[in-house]
Amino acid sequence: MASKEQVSYSYTTEIDTVAEENKLLKQTVSQLNSELDSLKSPALMVAEIQHVLGDKAVIRIPNGNRFMSYIAKELEVTSGDNVLIEQKNLNVVSKVLIHKNAEVEKFVNVQKPEESWKDIGGLSQQIEEVKEIIELPLNKPELFKKIGIKPPKGVLLFGPPGTGKTLLAKAVAHSTDATFIEIVGSELVQKFIGDGARLVKELFELARKKSPSIVFIDEIDALAAKRMDTGTSGEREVNRTFMQLLSELDGFKHLGDVKIIGATNRKDILDEAIVRPGRLDRLLFIGLPDAEGRYEILKVHTKGMSLKGIKLKNLADKMEDFCGAEIKAVCTEAGYFAIREDRDQVTQQDFLNAIQKIKMNESEEDLSFFG
Ligand code: ATP
Repeated sequence: MASKEQVSYSYTTEIDTVAEENKLLKQTVSQLNSELDSLKSPALMVAEIQHVLGDKAVIRIPNGNRFMSYIAKELEVTSGDNVLIEQKNLNVVSKVLIHKNAEVEKFVNVQKPEESWKDIGGLSQQIEEVKEIIELPLNKPELFKKIGIKPPKGVLLFGPPGTGKTLLAKAVAHSTDATFIEIVGSELVQKFIGDGARLVKELFELARKKSPSIVFIDEIDALAAKRMDTGTSGEREVNRTFMQLLSELDGFKHLGDVKIIGATNRKDILDEAIVRPGRLDRLLFIGLPDAEGRYEILKVHTKGMSLKGIKLKNLADKMEDFCGAEIKAVCTEAGYFAIREDRDQVTQQDFLNAIQKIKMNESEEDLSFFG
């Protein structure tokens, strides 16, 4: 039988263990409570410090609005810093490090293009001009120095869709061994509400870092359309992005190894400011190909195809008003006609069927456009 002392000893150790467990459980509860509290609290917003004024700062929030906010005690910030702010009172609570260029690199398409001059059908005059405006200054800047003239900073390609504007830009990047940085104006405006101007700035920083480079801005009209003073915040935002684009264009040197190629189907709505001397002042029309051009484009796209008895000139005549992209689509479609019939050669009839099909698609698109 256990003695009194033994019983009392075992109770004491049991009480100690329970007390220890109790302490641990209390700690867990308090930890969970604080986690719960932080989950319940609203998310912090990312903002940018514009000016620091003692214990306050002018901050810019993502929609472009600016506020004067208090900075948390002992937090050191300077203008340009990215910070976290409380949503309720906009107080600056901490600094965040956002890796520069990370966002812009994700957003833009950076590549060394494979397309070369031989992939372009027709457009021989436009190719010569692009060579003079972009290729020559990048490859032989000393020629310009010797003569004492400033080459253009870039060129604006305009004309209907699918006529080879992107292709021309890629081919010149290929021939100069420049990095091709592609950005679509409408995407920039839609996806980066409040951040478009910063993105344009970072885009040019990236272009300088990766130089020699060619910045290709497709649908530049989305950024550089004539400004209507609607006073909406969306309008103000596009204006800010446009202003940044103009200041980047003004800011870099003529003989620098960053060149700009803008492309648009809507030259009519462009703001004059973008095409002023010293900016994108070289304009190059890229129109629909004539019969000879269509023949040249057909030659490019049928080069690797297995053909039988094809009269390319005759096909080119039947594709009036087709753009390069449609001519390419005809070649692909003609190939499908042969595949469906289990043949390993593409015939003239396949091409004729394909032309009909693309024409029908076109007129269906036109009808849907008119509702
Ligand atoms: P968008 O204005 O719609 O952006 P775009 O003028 O930039 O059009 P591209 O993207 O260059 O047109 O052309 C689309 C495709 O059509 C090209 O990838 C190419 O295959 C074909 N294409 C267009 N024009 C030509 C051409 N002149 N020679 C060979 N292929 C062409």
